[in-house]
Amino acid sequence: MDQFRIGQITVSRVEEWSGGFSSADFLFAGYEEPVWRRREPEFVPDFYLPDEGKIFGVLQSWVIDTGAERILFDTGAGNDKERPGIPIFGNLQTDYLARLARAGYRPEDIDTVVCSHLHIDHVGWNTQLVDARWQPTFPNARYILPVADRDYWDPAGTGARPTEQGAFVNAGVFEDSVQPIIDAGRAIWAEDGHEVLPGMTLHARPGHTPGQMALALEDGGEKALFVGDILHHPMQVHRPDWNSRFCEDPEQAIASRRKTLEEVADSGALLVPAHFGGEHLVRVTREDGAFRPVYVKDLR
Ligand SMILES: [Zn+2]
Repeated sequence: MDQFRIGQITVSRVEEWSGGFSSADFLFAGYEEPVWRRREPEFVPDFYLPDEGKIFGVLQSWVIDTGAERILFDTGAGNDKERPGIPIFGNLQTDYLARLARAGYRPEDIDTVVCSHLHIDHVGWNTQLVDARWQPTFPNARYILPVADRDYWDPAGTGARPTEQGAFVNAGVFEDSVQPIIDAGRAIWAEDGHEVLPGMTLHARPGHTPGQMALALEDGGEKALFVGDILHHPMQVHRPDWNSRFCEDPEQAIASRRKTLEEVADSGALLVPAHFGGEHLVRVTREDGAFRPVYVKDLR
C-alpha cells in the first residue's frame, strides 16, 4: 500500500530498497527452528523468499502530510555511504529522491524529519554528499531525533556504550548521517511524549536501541502507530519474545514490543513498522493470550 489516510492526513510510502535480507535464523535472536518452520508457509512470498532462504524486507520512508505540514518518518540507508557492518546497505545508488518526487514531494517540501532511532537504515537520507561534504538532504527541515540515542551512538559519547555487534553494524553512521545535522543546527532532541504536531506524539519504546521511539498519529478518530524497528517481521507479532539480532537490550526490547502490540490491539491503531513486506502495515488482534497480525489489503 503506497498511500493511506488517517482522518484528513495523507500518508505516502517511499520505498528505498527491497529484497532478501538474511536467513531467519540470522535475523531472529530468539529463533526456534520448529516454530519458524511451522509458520514459514504463511509468510511466503510477502515476508519470506523460500528460494533464496531469506527474509523479505524493505527500507522505506513515510511522508505524513497534514495539508499544512509534511513530516518524513525515517530516512532509509542513503546513497554513497560506507557501511562495512551491513555491506548490502553500503554505497547504495538508489533513485530515492526521484521516488519521493513521484510521491509528490521535493526535498524542500519536507518541514520535519523524524528518525525513529539512529540506526544505519533509518537515518541515511538525513544527509547527502554535496561537494564532497555530508549536507542535510532536506534544506528546510528540522530533524527530530531521539535524545537517548545521541550519546549512545556518538563515537565520542561518554555514557553507556553500544554492544560490540551494535558498534559494528552502525559504524560510520553517526558521523555521516547525524553529526552533520547537529553541525547545521537542525537537530531537535526528543524525549518521551514529544509532540511533533498536535495529534502526532513520540513515545519512548527503548530496547532495540535506547532511543527507539514510536510515532502515534491520530486524526478524526483514526489512529496509526509508526513503530520503526520495535518489530522487524510479522513473526514477532506471534512471538514478541523473538528479538532481532540488532536489538541492543534484549529484555527491554521484548517488553517494549509486548507493550506496543497490546497498545495497537486495544486501540485498533494501524501498526506501521519499518521493514514489513506485503502491504507494509497490519492490524493486530489478540489470540489465545497472544497476538495475530491481520494483513490490511484495502483502507479506502
Ligand atoms: Zn534498527
